[in-house]
Amino acid sequence: MSSVLQLKSTTTHTTYSDIANHRSSKHNQLRLGRNRIISKSTTATSEREKMTTTTTKKPVIGFLGAGIMAVPMALNLINKGEHELICWNRTSSACDPLVKAGAVFANTAKEVCERCDFIYVMVSTPEATLEVCELAKEGISNNKGYIDCSTVDRHTAKKVSEVITSRGGRYLEGPVSGSKVPAETGQLIFLCAGDESLFKEIYADDANQLNKMGKASFFLGEEVGAGANMKLIVNSCMGSIMASFAESIALCEDAKLSKQSLLEVLALGAINVPMFAMKGPAMIASNEDTKFAPAFPLKHAQKDMRLAVQLADELGRELPVASAANEMYKRARRDGHDDEDFAAVIHAVKK
Ligand code: NAP
Repeated sequence: MSSVLQLKSTTTHTTYSDIANHRSSKHNQLRLGRNRIISKSTTATSEREKMTTTTTKKPVIGFLGAGIMAVPMALNLINKGEHELICWNRTSSACDPLVKAGAVFANTAKEVCERCDFIYVMVSTPEATLEVCELAKEGISNNKGYIDCSTVDRHTAKKVSEVITSRGGRYLEGPVSGSKVPAETGQLIFLCAGDESLFKEIYADDANQLNKMGKASFFLGEEVGAGANMKLIVNSCMGSIMASFAESIALCEDAKLSKQSLLEVLALGAINVPMFAMKGPAMIASNEDTKFAPAFPLKHAQKDMRLAVQLADELGRELPVASAANEMYKRARRDGHDDEDFAAVIHAVKK
């Protein structure tokens, strides 16, 4: 897939966004192969440049994690990127779809790091990402790229960054906006921060790894934590909208109005959100026995609301709407809806 890279410089960060199927002269300047990385005037980067100019073999990619998001992301790298991919997951059987598609299963996270040039991580929580980093770190050396796509808080991202860079590796946080279907169709949005040389390599190399999995990639700065913060801000908005949507459906039911009409009215107006059309039909048809098949597990949605509220707390900002929504997700968790889609928050609303 050809692509244009748009680079917008601002005083605070640089944003790259990818628009598929176009080319321009700017693209030609910015689309740098692995052997033509923009170098900064540091010795470390020059050495990296030397390493990459002499490297001719295609990079080997590792994937740690094999959940709802990791599997389709890794499949896109295998199927579209023609990369050799080595995978590992705590529960090994979850890697079966990847092995079937041609990936090699490694017995340990350390082995994945030893054998790969770039290692992607996609696991559930801050605790999980720290545990995986502990298991992986001894395989990190010498300029390897470690890209953690899990949704975590900035403190966790910084801890992982410190571990990886102390081993001589390069760290990029790359949480994603988009769910199961965008992961399957390669339409994720990457929210990256950290090592810019690593970002450029995986974004602009000839195989363009991020483009195999996503439709846009933002580089939010070298300060680790910017990606985590942006992801939590996006998800607190999404979680609040979903909770409000669930309330509207319940109120519509109480008022004995057509819930189908509600969806149609919302779809026609300025507050239309694609999520309403995706989740709405199952939500309006639901009753107290409905189990919502997970695309975005409710336990992860609540984790993100909790981390967003924590971020606001640390920055001294009130977050009354997201905080109230968080309480609804907590209620849904307590009632046993952890592993259902976050649309199951409607159960807490109707309680
Ligand atoms: P998931 O299906 O629940 O998968 C979680 C993964 O984390 C599994 O591979 C699991 O391994 C692993 N894991 C959990 N605890 C672990 C531990 N202590 N040590 C090692 N591995 C551990 O989750 P998901 O939906 O793919 O989400 C993954 C991340 O992406 C989360 O941070 C989530 O917030 C974020 N995210 C999700 C979506 C979405 O729509 N699903 C969208 C954007 C971002 P096991 O198989 O062994 O349990």
